[in-house]
Amino acid sequence: MSVTVRVPAKVNVQLAVGAARPDGFHDLANVFLAVGLHDEVTATPSAGGLRVTCAGPDAAEVPLDRTNLAARAALALAERYGRDADVHLHIAKDIPVAGGMAGGSADGAGALLACDALWGTGASRRELLDICAGLGSDVPFALVGGAALGIGRGERLTELEVGGTFHWVFAMARRGLSTPAVFREFDRLAEGRDVPAPVASQDLLDALAKGDPEALAATVSNDLQPAALSLFPELADTLAAGRGAGALAALVSGSGPTTAFLARDTETAEVIAGALRASGTCRAVRVASGPMPGATVL
Ligand code: ATP
Repeated sequence: MSVTVRVPAKVNVQLAVGAARPDGFHDLANVFLAVGLHDEVTATPSAGGLRVTCAGPDAAEVPLDRTNLAARAALALAERYGRDADVHLHIAKDIPVAGGMAGGSADGAGALLACDALWGTGASRRELLDICAGLGSDVPFALVGGAALGIGRGERLTELEVGGTFHWVFAMARRGLSTPAVFREFDRLAEGRDVPAPVASQDLLDALAKGDPEALAATVSNDLQPAALSLFPELADTLAAGRGAGALAALVSGSGPTTAFLARDTETAEVIAGALRASGTCRAVRVASGPMPGATVL
């Protein structure tokens, strides 16, 4: 017997970052949208204890030891319920690794839900969300999906109304960017400046609620984008290629280096995707829409 959970990637339509706190973390106002790029995590009983395997184009970059967020999720649930994490977790990986789309976080939420179902722990939603928050600031959203505002380190979530489907194109870069390195660059660029407290844009929340892509395009923002571009200047060429092909908005996704392009409709999304592929400025291009449901048992 095994349980498979499907779990989406995210794009941040707003990522407002405050000044570094004394503990080194940053306060965020983070508007997440789950999009149709998915990993699948399958949990199967394993007599030999915890084991992680991974398949997919980026599989070689995924750690298979206990630092994998899927493994950490299984261990956290096993510990809470006083049982052994005797499970094989297989990750079918389609979300780019180190791409700013929260792929590792998705696997953490997926493994948690899969083990909960496999072991019949019957944990409440609240308990699962608590475990997710302990694993990382993007993990609770992968469980919830849809669209949500995250405050604090991003993990205190309020679900948001979305009035329609948004069409996106994602360009995967030829190398990854480490999230901590991007935050360090943000701090370096912010030195000597007053960084305002992060707040969600009401215009952006209204655009999501209306399902209006033009209004959303006018309000998307990512405070980490200058830092990502500073560490990875070639991303400016990818952003320009997508804008030139008719994207309503072009931005770095989260800490990058994946770039995200908002399209008016599916046809325009395909045109933008074609132009990005032809531009030679990225490794791969995918069309995906959102919002999508969070982690779901198949
Ligand atoms: P975020 O958008 O949340 O900042 P990301 O999408 O940029 O994250 P991830 O793909 O989640 O980045 O992974 C970042 C690093 O985490 C990887 O380089 C890898 O070493 C480690 N990692 C741990 N577990 C996983 C996992 N299940 N899948 C991918 N990477 C993982």
